[in-house]
Amino acid sequence: MALFGKMENLDAPQDENKVMGETEKVKVLIIGSGPAGYTAAIYAARANLNPVMYEGLQPGGQLTTTTEVENYPGYPEGVTGPEMMEDLKKQAARFGTDIRFGMATAADLSERPFKITIDGNKVVEAEALIIATGATAKYLGLPDETKYAGSGVSACATCDGFFYRGKDVAVVGGGDTALEEAMYLAGLCNKVYLIVRRDVFRASKVMQERALKTPNIEVLWKHQTKGLFGDGVVEGATLVKNMGTPEEEEVKIAIDGFFLGIGHKPNSDIFADYIDTNDVGYIQTVPGTSKTNVPGVFACGDVQDDQYRQAVTAAGSGCMAAIDAERFLAEQE
Ligand code: NDP
Repeated sequence: MALFGKMENLDAPQDENKVMGETEKVKVLIIGSGPAGYTAAIYAARANLNPVMYEGLQPGGQLTTTTEVENYPGYPEGVTGPEMMEDLKKQAARFGTDIRFGMATAADLSERPFKITIDGNKVVEAEALIIATGATAKYLGLPDETKYAGSGVSACATCDGFFYRGKDVAVVGGGDTALEEAMYLAGLCNKVYLIVRRDVFRASKVMQERALKTPNIEVLWKHQTKGLFGDGVVEGATLVKNMGTPEEEEVKIAIDGFFLGIGHKPNSDIFADYIDTNDVGYIQTVPGTSKTNVPGVFACGDVQDDQYRQAVTAAGSGCMAAIDAERFLAEQE
């Protein structure tokens, strides 16, 4: 995973953003640094809104954990996720976005200016807020995932695959994430089991074809994971085939690595007291806009998108959020 260091843009115009003791006042605060956050930053900076961005726990967002991105327009040969995010970051910084390392840990959106706590201490007061906090990899919820965390369990093949060169591993899931992880690991590992709970993939056809053509990927259809075993590190997984049917049977596989690829949870928890979400936490926006139920708070990218979740749709919604924020602030003057 690419790690982006702390980068404060000292050349950014600061006159509109005033530091007052422990509390800093800013015009537009952007939380999150995936394609949505950076695109919002590019547009907000070019509109002279002096945006301040906090990058969050995973600077660059989910794309820093992916390998080739082949479907983002403008890269005919493809581009790696980390490279693309570096490009977006440079573009946002070029127009004066004040990009900072830090995590939003609490939010008071009861009135304007909105008060966002960063890293549990500093408070930033924002006239307009753009939430671009994305989504985080999901786990199955098995106690063994915690037991073997860092000792054979991972939710990021591109981060950790290197440690499993020449070994046997398993990936859980049947969507694009799981298949991409499986194919990446197949290039490094001896064998990759793909544990799929139904008898069909959810992934795009092109990914399905590629995965099925990869000789060292074995798909275990209709299998679910019951637990992991091993002395201190993962040495195998116990699976259940045909769960809940008369043909149900327990299957053990010998593996050194267990990778999750079952989707993501939107990072909306700190806003939940104020912002309307759907039942699984995706922020609800007014259709065709980035507006949330709180005037002055806008959401873009995966935190508000349970349908498309693509880098290009995230970037498009980031553009919308910046334009919506600009219009909102203009109306307030
Ligand atoms: P998806 O929601 O598309 O797929 C999740 C997969 O995990 C499904 O196969 C699902 O099974 C399975 N799953 C979910 N929960 C469990 C569980 N508890 N136990 C076992 N299996 C489970 O998520 P993705 O992260 O794969 O993709 C999200 C979006 O991002 C998609 O739109 C995808 O196209 C996109 N994407 C694109 C990429 C690219 O273009 N390079 C790369 C990665 C993602 P079931 O089908 O039975 O529900």
